[in-house]
Amino acid sequence: MNFTGVPDHMARYIFITGGVVSSLGKGLASAALGALLQARGFSVRLRKLDPYLNVDPGTMSPFEHGEVFVTDDGAETDLDLGHYERFTGVAARKTDSISSGRVYSTVLEKERRGDYLGKTIQVIPHVTNEIKEFLHVGDDEVDFMLCEIGGTVGDIEGLPFFEAIRQFSHDKPRGQCIFMHLTLLPYLAASGELKTKPTQHSVKELQSIGIAPDILVCRSEHPIPEKEREKIALFCNVRKEAVVAAYDLKTIYDAPLAYHAQGLDQAVLDAFQISPAPKPDLTVWRDVSDRIHNPEGEVRVAIVGKYTQLEDAYKSIAEALTHGGMANRVKVKVEWVDAEVFDKAEDVAPHLEGFQAILVPGGFGERGTEGKIKAAQYAREHQVPYLGICLGMQMAVIEAARNVAGLATAGSEEFDHESSGKKRFEPVVYHLKEWVQGNHKVERKVNDDKGGTMRLGSYDATLKEGSHVARIYGTTSIDERHRHRYEVDTAYREQLEKVGMTFSGMSPDGKLPEIVEWADHPWFIGVQFHPELKSKPFAPHPLFKDFVRAAKEMSRLV
Ligand code: GLN
Repeated sequence: MNFTGVPDHMARYIFITGGVVSSLGKGLASAALGALLQARGFSVRLRKLDPYLNVDPGTMSPFEHGEVFVTDDGAETDLDLGHYERFTGVAARKTDSISSGRVYSTVLEKERRGDYLGKTIQVIPHVTNEIKEFLHVGDDEVDFMLCEIGGTVGDIEGLPFFEAIRQFSHDKPRGQCIFMHLTLLPYLAASGELKTKPTQHSVKELQSIGIAPDILVCRSEHPIPEKEREKIALFCNVRKEAVVAAYDLKTIYDAPLAYHAQGLDQAVLDAFQISPAPKPDLTVWRDVSDRIHNPEGEVRVAIVGKYTQLEDAYKSIAEALTHGGMANRVKVKVEWVDAEVFDKAEDVAPHLEGFQAILVPGGFGERGTEGKIKAAQYAREHQVPYLGICLGMQMAVIEAARNVAGLATAGSEEFDHESSGKKRFEPVVYHLKEWVQGNHKVERKVNDDKGGTMRLGSYDATLKEGSHVARIYGTTSIDERHRHRYEVDTAYREQLEKVGMTFSGMSPDGKLPEIVEWADHPWFIGVQFHPELKSKPFAPHPLFKDFVRAAKEMSRLV
């Protein structure tokens, strides 16, 4: 896109920071802004800079950090990258996520190699340079690069990142970078007032490290009076139009329309002095909003998982179900069922009656798996739609092996620690140590590091003609994102297919089962990959769309 100022081949940078408190929805604001810039015809890429010391979130417990979002190119990233993709449709890449841990490990590797030629290694310039280099990647590909800094201003860990973005904007021509800061306006019920002081302090904190925000996004539970807006503008040294209100929303998918109504995208274009600003086309977001606010019915879906206390642990699944609901014009009411409760339950029926569909998500470790197996059995026997994702597929296969194919001790090697020697299970699911990626072989050992060593990222699969999944996808060749260490063993394929469980999706070399389904069940599908990662509100994933359709059908039957 052609406009004045900065040379055309260079991206403009929007740095997004947060203050006052955490969890203000910086990720969502960034994603919504990305969508609004796209609606005005610009191309965007979104990036996350996380100050924690883990090299990536792959090894963090979902309880700690929510879901791990996997990119096509196999990076294990922060769940904010999921928001970015869901709002912009731009597939995230490895180079869109960086943490202090990754920065430091790169710097230390270089130091050991002698790349710094004997210099003393310091945060400035060595760490900050590494961050700046990361910010540059792909800057000739898009109109806008949106970079969100995790945490809040003033955090010790965040300092090198703030210093790096300060330097970065200083190095660039004037007008190429802007800063957007999210804050909170707390409401004091006793005096009936919104307080601006925390925002002023947070902006001061930013200014003390050399960053002057161009735009302030103020979260507030109450309307911001004009007077307060003026006060914030004056004390924080931003234009009044650049003080943008962010009110609580019924659904995150209202964010683009809501931010547009508050003038966020206009304020951003003004800050870059892009004039005249191209008019936005918000048709897609109006449709999304309409579908979500006006459902014509409701279906109840049980998610039988392990990390049920924290919804963020299955963020993309919850969103993909919402998308499936939007496609079918129904509200999907998700209920989280703790699989461990089922572990010991004699009969799971009382827990699962009344649901029109059952979903068993991914997971790690043995805890809760017997419960998941029972959930799969219930779905199979009661003809309830079942979607098993990753571990949820493996559990469905174990259930079939034990209860239909007569392999009473079927289980997964994941639960029989390979080093311990004594085996409790017949390994229908085994530890995958060799596979093909593109045209090279990947190998793993039992005692490999835990971080980054799974079968990660996008892999192709070939679907069986005439299968449920081939109908649902409308094609027989697909690619989906993976994150697993264990795999269903094809040695059991014949036995399982004989009793009706079809291996309807395989890796192109025919070695790795990607999808299983019960041919004579209305909707029972297990997938080794994570379809939820690619679903978008404006393009629901076919599996989720059809899963909710089947659930809707069930609700008509009862
Ligand atoms: N724990 C299983 C494996 O590693 C499943 C992983 C998952 O559900 N993402 O294969």
